[in-house]
Amino acid sequence: MATPTKNQKMEVLDMKRDTYQMIINGERVNSNSGKTVPVYNPATGEVLAQVADADNYDADQAVAAARHAFDNGKWKRTPVGKRSRVLNKIAALMRERFNELIELEVLNSGKSIGAAHVQVMQSIEDFEFYAGAIVSHRGHVNNVPGQFMNYTQNEPVGVCAQIIPWNYPMMMAAWKIAPAIAAGCSVVIKPASLTPITAIILAEICHEAGVPAGVVNVITGSGKLIGDHLVEHELVDKVAFTGSTPVGKDIMSKASKTLKRVTLELGGKSPNIVFDDADIEAAVDGSLFGIFFNTGQSCEARSRMYVHEAIYDAFLEKFVEKTKKLKTGDPFDQGTHLGSIISQSQVDVIDSYVQSAIQDGATILTGGKAADIEGFEGGYWYEPTVITDVNPDMKVVKEEIFGPVVVVQKFNDEKEVIKEANDSVYGLGSAVWTKDHARATRVANQIQAGIVMINCPFSAFPGTPFGGYKQSGFGRELSIETLDLYTEQKSVLSYFGSRPLNPFGV
Ligand code: NAP
Ligand code: MG
Repeated sequence: MATPTKNQKMEVLDMKRDTYQMIINGERVNSNSGKTVPVYNPATGEVLAQVADADNYDADQAVAAARHAFDNGKWKRTPVGKRSRVLNKIAALMRERFNELIELEVLNSGKSIGAAHVQVMQSIEDFEFYAGAIVSHRGHVNNVPGQFMNYTQNEPVGVCAQIIPWNYPMMMAAWKIAPAIAAGCSVVIKPASLTPITAIILAEICHEAGVPAGVVNVITGSGKLIGDHLVEHELVDKVAFTGSTPVGKDIMSKASKTLKRVTLELGGKSPNIVFDDADIEAAVDGSLFGIFFNTGQSCEARSRMYVHEAIYDAFLEKFVEKTKKLKTGDPFDQGTHLGSIISQSQVDVIDSYVQSAIQDGATILTGGKAADIEGFEGGYWYEPTVITDVNPDMKVVKEEIFGPVVVVQKFNDEKEVIKEANDSVYGLGSAVWTKDHARATRVANQIQAGIVMINCPFSAFPGTPFGGYKQSGFGRELSIETLDLYTEQKSVLSYFGSRPLNPFGV
């Protein structure tokens, strides 16, 4: 590893490349082994580029760079106002390259250009949010007996290993990097093997904006191999993970050996409750977006729908009618609602859930199979799917599918539907549709989930805490609260009385 000397400025080159290198210590580097792996465009199945295939040696280099930058570098000592300016500069550079970032994100994820637009924009706004938030992330002065004085200060937690999934490649990178570097931490981020490109570009932009070498490192490689290594690494202080619940559990247990700080954003099976007094049109449109946005590959996808019996038939008729109108296909077409699925194996997972529902006696109202998209025959596609005649014991109702599949159940009683909504190991998102304000808040108060959406199709904006109850994980992202999780609170207690203290009295 090159020793960190000065703050090298990195120019972001043409974003479309044949090979993407990792970013370690402010430099573009190959893997030590020289190995690369292909990444694909899931809409076509074609190889998009090669990326470095890191092993534990490379992970060690990245951790060493982050450790050195944190222990000896200037970033954590940089006045907060200056750090804030650098975060704003990152956002400004992203705005300059907005369309290129969207294009790369679409190419590597197969998501619709509309979805990519929203997510890249939110990534930018995330840096702008933390540029502001960090300035007011202060300590406190506390009440203590006279002649004593106590204040707390927030200090960066240290080296953070950040592991992210494939469903929101750029946005997850932004959610992780922005608060961490705002707080003064150094990071080693490991994107999902399927979608590493925009995280690499984001790290390059961070350097171009003036983040010192070693503060933001990106390594690409297998989660099982280097992910494990990062989680167990002695020189890593915190692990921030977004991904599946089983891997989250594994990470928590492995991180316990060194008592690392851990935050986990995991899976979900979020309920969407439509009462009989809801604005039906708005509830249909919002519920449609709630499940099919990002082709259902959202941790907070509202995938369990509960509809009041008085409006069930009318609602469902409209919902299915509109589902059939959704356009699945060319991700670059502005009219596309659903892009591709991330991989063939994910298509197989989705289909096996649908098949299990059929075997359990459920009814498929629309969809229920892989989609054929003209001109995109090599890609991975699934039709938006609505399933009814289900019961709470079915796999399709209990487990996260992570695809464009919603299960619909009927209810007639508020208490009962709250109970059913809470009957899940997960507790990430939830939505309530009603015109009755008292009911909305009553239900919101009883739902066991980190996020409740009332008559609202959107789950978050920069500033709203995002995170789960129960096995959806813990910790909050996207908000002021996140900064608490990238800092340690130090309590400084001092005595300034005129008489020396002699508590033992000897
Ligand atoms: P995943 O398999 O858990 O992978 C997530 C990340 O962890 C990837 O970078 C993966 O690397 C890495 N990884 C895999 N095994 C690991 C291990 N043993 N130790 C350390 N890291 C490991 O999840 P996914 O399939 O990418 O994403 C889908 C899941 O993420 C869904 O369950 C979804 O609900 C959840 N998710 C949650 C949120 C949230 O905010 N709550 C947001 C998005 C997604 P490789 O790519 O190399 O395998
Ligand atoms: Mg996985």
